[in-house]
Amino acid sequence: KPIVLSGCQPSGQLTIGNYMGALKQWVSMQDDYDCLYMLVDLHAITVRQDPKSLYDACLDGLALYLACGIDPDKSTLFVQSHVPEHAQLSWVLNCYAQMGELNRMTQFKDKATKNENNINVGLYAYPVLQAADILAYQADKVPVGEDQKQHLELTRDIATRFNNLYGDVFKLPDPYIPEFGARIMSLQEPERKMSKSDTNPNNFIGLLEDPKKLTKKIKRAVTDSDEQARIYFDPQEKPGVSNLLSLLSLATGTSIDALVPAYEDKMYGHLKGDVAEAVVALVEPIQARYETLRHDRAYLDEVMKHGAEKASARASKTLQKVYETIGFIARP
Ligand code: ATP
Ligand code: MG
Repeated sequence: KPIVLSGCQPSGQLTIGNYMGALKQWVSMQDDYDCLYMLVDLHAITVRQDPKSLYDACLDGLALYLACGIDPDKSTLFVQSHVPEHAQLSWVLNCYAQMGELNRMTQFKDKATKNENNINVGLYAYPVLQAADILAYQADKVPVGEDQKQHLELTRDIATRFNNLYGDVFKLPDPYIPEFGARIMSLQEPERKMSKSDTNPNNFIGLLEDPKKLTKKIKRAVTDSDEQARIYFDPQEKPGVSNLLSLLSLATGTSIDALVPAYEDKMYGHLKGDVAEAVVALVEPIQARYETLRHDRAYLDEVMKHGAEKASARASKTLQKVYETIGFIARP
């Protein structure tokens, strides 16, 4: 089976964007691929985290992965910091990544602007750690949202550079970006992507959010000041309305083209009401499963232990091969 690897940061509560761009794909790939899914806590600390919140977000995320349908018997489910090979391989790859190419990463530029007082080296090297995550397992496919495409290209560039020097050590991974849902936009600033670490909570829809609160947020979403208030799909001209249509389409499984005619003479309020209803219907069963799982710490521990063992056994093979290739002496 081809190998699939992906992860989310425990940098806040997972959003409907993370679900549409990543988790939904993860679940659907479990039968046909050999899947590894992680919570990337090493990545999360590239932005300052409150220790208690990080700890909780990691357990929340794990329970949520399970609640969304990740099956730990089918997939390898683990926490990144439990598998030291990620950090170890990342150091090696740092020495094969060029500052010039990291300077071009738009996520770094974005996050550096938002975190002006903490532009740390880890934030800069973030894509190299991501390359290590992927290459450690010789992954074939990486299901991600559109925003991670550039990092995937960098991973391929680093792997190619390494392979050109030493022979075929790394498999080149392909991004797996869904046709729809790869870029859910912020509710209040629909020209920017939805992000769980957004400082304005009105910008995102958390998967664990109370249905009432979530409905209120959707009803307050920015649309536009188009006098005629027509409802049609055009992300350039009508980013807010188009984002709502995308959400409705994804949550109901109906294509946008099939949805639009029904809103011919309706108001934005109608659309928002329908989006809220569809999103609530999507998250409610997930939230119910989550509640049970999140309180079963013994089970979560067992999942983490089992996952870390499986992941580490695989990643250490690649790490050994890399160490040998570059001339490190194996520890006698
Ligand atoms: P942060 O703001 O902390 O970076 P995030 O919401 O961007 O959080 P990540 O943990 O960085 O989430 O990304 C996890 C996965 O979710 C990645 O595959 C990413 O491409 C995807 N993703 C993130 N935001 C969106 C979005 N708005 N639409 C679709 N997919 C998304
Ligand atoms: Mg992100």
